[in-house]
This record gives sequence, C-alpha cells and structure tokens, in this order.
Amino acid sequence: MKAVKNVVILGSTGSIGINTLKIIDRFPNRFKVVALTAYHNIQLLKEQIDKYAPSHVAVGSSGIDYLRNRINGQRTRVLDVTTEITQIVTLPSVDIVIIGMRGSVALEPFLVALQNGKTVAPANKEAIVVAGDLIIREAKKYNAKIIPIDSEQSAIFQCIEGRPRSELQKVYLTASGGVLQDVPRAAFDRLSVKRILQHPRWKMGKKITVDSASLMNKGFEIIEAKWLFELNIDDIEVVIHPEAIIHSMVGFKDGTILAQLGVTDMRLPIQYALTYPQRWESGLPQVNFFDLKQLTFRRPNLKKFPSLALAIYTARKGGTLPCVLNAADEEAVEAFLNKRISFSGIYKVVEKVVLKHKIKENPMLKDIQATDQWAREETKRLVFN
Ligand code: MG
Repeated sequence: MKAVKNVVILGSTGSIGINTLKIIDRFPNRFKVVALTAYHNIQLLKEQIDKYAPSHVAVGSSGIDYLRNRINGQRTRVLDVTTEITQIVTLPSVDIVIIGMRGSVALEPFLVALQNGKTVAPANKEAIVVAGDLIIREAKKYNAKIIPIDSEQSAIFQCIEGRPRSELQKVYLTASGGVLQDVPRAAFDRLSVKRILQHPRWKMGKKITVDSASLMNKGFEIIEAKWLFELNIDDIEVVIHPEAIIHSMVGFKDGTILAQLGVTDMRLPIQYALTYPQRWESGLPQVNFFDLKQLTFRRPNLKKFPSLALAIYTARKGGTLPCVLNAADEEAVEAFLNKRISFSGIYKVVEKVVLKHKIKENPMLKDIQATDQWAREETKRLVFN
C-alpha cells in the first residue's frame, strides 16, 4: 500500500462521508483528502474544507458563491457538483473514490472514475442496481478495482477474497428485516411515517430506512450482489437475521460457509475499503457473544413484503428493468415521505411502472438515463392522479 492514499469523498456531508472522515482522522499520516462533494449542507462542507484543505470541492449551484466568498480560493477550487463532478474523480492524484452520495446520479462519476483506473468504494447501491452490467464491464476494461462499502456486499467481498469463483456455491444475504417484521401487513398503513423511519439496528438516511422496512433494500442488494460477484439470482438467498451481527455469508462447494461478523457500525466496511487489503486497528469493539447470547434466522415472507419478490423479478429480467425499479421506488418513497401515498401504495405504484416498461437489453448509459427519466415521469403521473 502507498504511504499516503489520496481520497475523494462524493457526498462528504452524509453519514457515509462523515464516517469516512472519522476514520481518516485516526490515520492523518496515511490518508489525504484531495476532494469533497456535497449538495446542500454548505455549512458542514465549509467546516470540512477548513479542516482538510482539499484541492477541489464540488457543491450544488446555490452554494458555489457562498463558498467562494468564504474559503481560501488559492487552496481550494469550488466546482458545480451537477455539471463538474467528473473533474473531481479524474484528478490525477486520486487513488480511491468513496461514493457516499445517494441516487442514480452517482452512476456517471462512478463510470468515469473506473475509466480512469481509480479504485471505487461505493456505499451507493443505485448506480450498481441501474447499470451493474455496464459498471462491471468498464471496471474490467480499465482494470479498476471496486471495493464495496454496503455492509452486506463488503461481507461477501471479504468472505470470497482469494477464492476462485468456481468454488463458490451460494451467497446468503442477511437482512435485519427492518421495522415491520413483527407488524401484520394489514396494519402497515396505520403506522406513521415517523414510526417507519425508526430502524431497529442501523441509523441511515430516510430513503434507505423506508426501503429496509419494505425489504426493497434487500431486493436492491440482490441485484447489486449479482453484478459485483457475478452470481446467478438462484444462488443468492435472503436470510432475515434481526440481530444484524452476521453481515452476509458465502457457501462453498465443499459445504463450508464463511460469514463476516461485526458490530453494527458502517465504519467497519468503510475502513476495510480504505485499508484494503490490510486490516488496521479501528477502535471499535468486537462482537460480545456472551452479551448477545443468540443469533436468529428466518425466511423472508414474500407475501407480506412483495417488494422483495418484485426486485427478484426485475433482477431475473435484467436489461433496463432494474433501472425502472430503482427510479420508480425513489419517486414513490419520496411521495410516501411527503404523505402523498401510503406505505403499501409504494409497492402498488412501483409494480405498475415495472410491469408497463418495455425492456431494453444490454443498455448503454444513454438508455439508462432515458429509462430513468421515463420511470420517474410514469411514477409521478400515478402519484399525482
Ligand atoms: Mg446494506
């Protein structure tokens, strides 16, 4: 490993970005923050600029002048995150790009980073869901490494490491199950938005917390795992594991199963991506089995959580369909958070849009972008009618 690794964080003011900086703070001589991006949280971004002195930052257009007037312009250049984010990831000094920003807007910087041979560590799952095929093709073509940060994908990555693909038999994708596991389906729509947002294990953004409650998030992760590890959908099994201690498991053909266990803290997978292939001291405790006493498992209920079944359906169909799933879900969850539709309305709307779509095989970036836009418009039409 290089003595100093140069890091870019896309989405530095979100929870992944903040946790990444906490890790960097522990090893100030091993990492250099070369660029940061954010959309709206200009105040926090300014504090980060003052502290880390990155050579470049990118921010939403409303924050550009604000920052230019308040920071040392000699030291840090301010760019527009919407139109100039690719300049950030292609800076020659960059070694690793942490993608903490959410949404399919991460796809373009993701692809451009790979095309420039950068290591990419995505916490963002949307880009891989909508264009996994394209991402993996580009990574291979440009010999660029992808080290996932999403906790389940990081677990699979760690369990698989060093083993030939031919030895692998099955991947067990664990799910904490979200807030609705013990709530009857008929009662879902009586719960408030606030209640749905109370995830029992992970503290995350609103969108992903709603997706965890519906298990759509696990559906996205099936699609993500399919691409990242070149798996068949039939070889991926979702296991509900409420304690969220096992972050996923890999079964090999001799019958051995390797699991990755750890406390529920995103700093673990983020740090592994930063220090890969080494493991450094993290300051985090190991799992205490005696406090924990037991780990439990159950099968997901696809009738109660039809979003998971719908995601598996789109994963099998492939082409542009996972892109439709992602875009429709993003719009529908937004509508739910704004109290325009009920919780079960999310599934109803997304299913309609998915079933209406005419799939295009082997999509290129422009096909993905057109599909994304179509699916968003269709979803909004359904939501506002
Ligand atoms: Mg996850």
